[in-house]
Amino acid sequence: MEREIYDEDHEAFRDVVKEFLKRYATNDKREQWDRDGEIDRETMLAAGEAGIIGLSVPEEFGGAGMLQDYRFRSIVLEETIQSGNGSLAGAFGIQDDLAVPYLVHMGTPEQKQKWLPRMATGEILGALAMTEPGAGSDLRGIKTTAKKVDGGYIVNGAKTFISSGKTADVVVTFVKTGEGNRPDAFSLVLIEDGMEGFEHGKKLNKVGFHGWDTAELSFTDVFVPDENLIGGAEGKGFIQLMMNLPLERLSIGVAAAAAGEAAFKWTLDYTLSRDAFGQPVADFQNTRFSLADMATTVDVMWTYVDRAMMLYKDRKLSAEEAAKVKFWATEREWELLDLGVQLHGGYGYMLEYPIARAWTDARVHRIYGGTNEIMRDIVSRQLVGRK
Ligand SMILES: Cc1cc2nc3c(=O)[nH]c(=O)nc-3n(C[C@H](O)[C@H](O)[C@H](O)COP(=O)(O)OP(=O)(O)OC[C@H]3O[C@@H](n4cnc5c(N)ncnc54)[C@H](O)[C@@H]3O)c2cc1C
Repeated sequence: MEREIYDEDHEAFRDVVKEFLKRYATNDKREQWDRDGEIDRETMLAAGEAGIIGLSVPEEFGGAGMLQDYRFRSIVLEETIQSGNGSLAGAFGIQDDLAVPYLVHMGTPEQKQKWLPRMATGEILGALAMTEPGAGSDLRGIKTTAKKVDGGYIVNGAKTFISSGKTADVVVTFVKTGEGNRPDAFSLVLIEDGMEGFEHGKKLNKVGFHGWDTAELSFTDVFVPDENLIGGAEGKGFIQLMMNLPLERLSIGVAAAAAGEAAFKWTLDYTLSRDAFGQPVADFQNTRFSLADMATTVDVMWTYVDRAMMLYKDRKLSAEEAAKVKFWATEREWELLDLGVQLHGGYGYMLEYPIARAWTDARVHRIYGGTNEIMRDIVSRQLVGRK
């Protein structure tokens, strides 16, 4: 089914992304990223130069001004994931969907001026640190504190599972600035690489996304100046997170749809080229029916996710609708990839095949950005009228 959200400008941009990937996301590069456990800085700078990251940065700060219009970012995710580079897509997503939006929506004029131009070019890479060893779903259980002192805050604590946490130059960090766990007890601060007492801990050894770093962070008496309090407002951190989480969840839904479509395309190609019992695997009725199911799921998925993108563009995507998209799309993605692996036989389990890598990458889509149980909780609370 043809998608209807793109026009010729989008398709011209798709060509730019494809050209970039042909040049910078070669097999050798991908193997290097997987070995190093991170995307090299030169690639991120080249992406900034090509306009592949920085899309959500306003034009006045050197970006494309596409924070609300997700279509260009969807094209980046579609092409990057379908080229077999899930890790690269992840690194792109962190910058434009998780780090930049806090500054665009909530940053003070000085914070925007200081950070956004260099985030558009990839000179400054960001991350978002909410999760701690003892608190993930229950974010109000965090223990990292920011105590007010003259001219700033002293931050103590630790974060874990932070995407791009090793490579980030600046981390939007969720901290406790008040007592108890009321929403106004939390704030967001920018913690910069090189601040005394801030350590990027070890890179975590993950099941998937091998070329994209996920790290622990620790803070020991880190002095963070007042000017790094996001929006200059103490006690607003919880609300600021709630405002941006629908975008994070939409972006995971888009990545899931892109990977689901890739699973279908890779499986179609593979089963047409692989023979068994004297005929292509694609000619067995079971395979053909599975391919029909996959093609239909991909159509329905994009129809739904595209609609969510357009609602977001019009500032109408509610937290509940974003939660639905996140859990539904990531579960369809998983089914598509798992079926795709099955139809590849043993080769589907080999990491040299993109379907195998995408399958390992996809597992975390049901966990991060809020687990799918938490997504169902958000949706169902609204249904039964509970806060
Ligand atoms: C690869 C990776 C990258 C990540 N990147 C980031 C990042 O960049 N920044 C960041 O801040 N975090 C990041 N995370 C953390 C991620 O968001 C959390 O792991 C996730 O929110 C779950 O928290 P948890 O691991 O503490 O699990 P827990 O909260 O301990 O959950 C354990 C289980 O209990 C269930 N559960 C919990 N509460 C409820 C409830 N109320 N109702 C029903 N079930 C419930 C959960 O669904 C889950 O199944 C990342 C995680 C991974 C694995």
